[in-house]
Amino acid sequence: MTPTSDYLDDLFSYINQAPTSYHAVASSVNILSGQRFQRLHEGEAWGTLGPGSYFVIRNDASLVAFTLAHSSQSGRPLRMAGAHTDSPGLKIKPNPMQLRHGSVQIGVEIYGGALLAPWFDRNLSIAGRVSWCRNSGPLHCSLIDFQRPVATIPSLAIHLDREVNSKRSIDKQTDLVPLLMLSGESSPPDFHTLLASELSRQDPTAADATILAFDLFLYDTQPLCRVGLNNELITGSRLDNLLSCHALVQALVQAETQQNRLIVLNDHEEVGSVSTAGAQGPFLKSVLERIYPDSALRQRAIAGSLFVSVDNAHAVHPNFAGKHDPDHLPLLNRGPVIKMNANQRYATNALTAALFRQFCTNAKVPCQQFVMRNDLACGSTIGPLTAAEIGVPTVDVGVPQLAMHSIRETVGHLDGWYLLQAMATFFSEEDERIRCPEIAL
Ligand code: ZN
Repeated sequence: MTPTSDYLDDLFSYINQAPTSYHAVASSVNILSGQRFQRLHEGEAWGTLGPGSYFVIRNDASLVAFTLAHSSQSGRPLRMAGAHTDSPGLKIKPNPMQLRHGSVQIGVEIYGGALLAPWFDRNLSIAGRVSWCRNSGPLHCSLIDFQRPVATIPSLAIHLDREVNSKRSIDKQTDLVPLLMLSGESSPPDFHTLLASELSRQDPTAADATILAFDLFLYDTQPLCRVGLNNELITGSRLDNLLSCHALVQALVQAETQQNRLIVLNDHEEVGSVSTAGAQGPFLKSVLERIYPDSALRQRAIAGSLFVSVDNAHAVHPNFAGKHDPDHLPLLNRGPVIKMNANQRYATNALTAALFRQFCTNAKVPCQQFVMRNDLACGSTIGPLTAAEIGVPTVDVGVPQLAMHSIRETVGHLDGWYLLQAMATFFSEEDERIRCPEIAL
């Protein structure tokens, strides 16, 4: 089985249109709304939720969407899956404008564990959300995306640093300040004024806006691309973890099933997940409490449920194979990877791993296994945090990728499709086929 070109077109369009976690939620809502999912607001009463499809947004960048085929009063289990909407990158500082030597530059903070070297010499744009008002009126919040290259971080010429290829280090405060424009003035332009003008260009109803604050990031304008002699690779930004978000949203809406199912897309995974909308915050728990107001019924449903935490995994890099455990070498285009860690950096155990293996078998897709070498620190993801917050059996999986946290990452062209098949199968399984078995005592 191979991916349809429709799948890859859809994946490319989803990620290209989502330069930030805010846009990822907006793109997901577009898909859900087209499938008649109904929005619920946390500040309103929900009543008893009957069969139907719903979604909830928190802080514009995290989303829970679910389909109840059976009333929540039935106590039937949920097939749950999660991924994260954010990616490491450069976030614009509150007072960003600097003028040095005729160059207007824009100060940035580093968001998450970004691989910094690939940020040099890229054609960068700006996107995120802005808070604004008009004539001291009520506050508004809008998405914004400049959608064109407006900045770059030029490398230092090798002639000025002859040891750059052997001893390069990057000063995070001084080396990474993007160049926005050239100026003959004595002071830089006002950033809020520039933003207001761009906002009104994108949205005429925001004319005369006064910008009050913003959450803005730089991103690479180069779209996703098929690469390789046989087009078997995909390169692009934010594959970690928007490829997974896309698979979960599509599996949720495509599954032809009469089972209860839910996805959570969390922001802030790349900075530790401790926030109102992160996986170590109360968002999912609060939604579950409202779906199942009766705590005994809720616990019964959760005990029979399974959470599949989906986040990209490290494929073995042919130039650096020694960085992997020699018996656990995930390969590109060989299927989703089940991630295990004895110290609970991943929440997978023998029961949840076995269940996911069965989903892959039933979906007729391959799967692989990963553990980190003992002499390297293991990363983590939303799986262990969600498992600890909710108490739900969890498996950590993800498609294999190279160059994780680079501004341009690499995956195989089959693995997202394999993941989607496995997740659609999971969402369709009967109750007893998602329940962890117990040792007979
Ligand atoms: Zn990730």
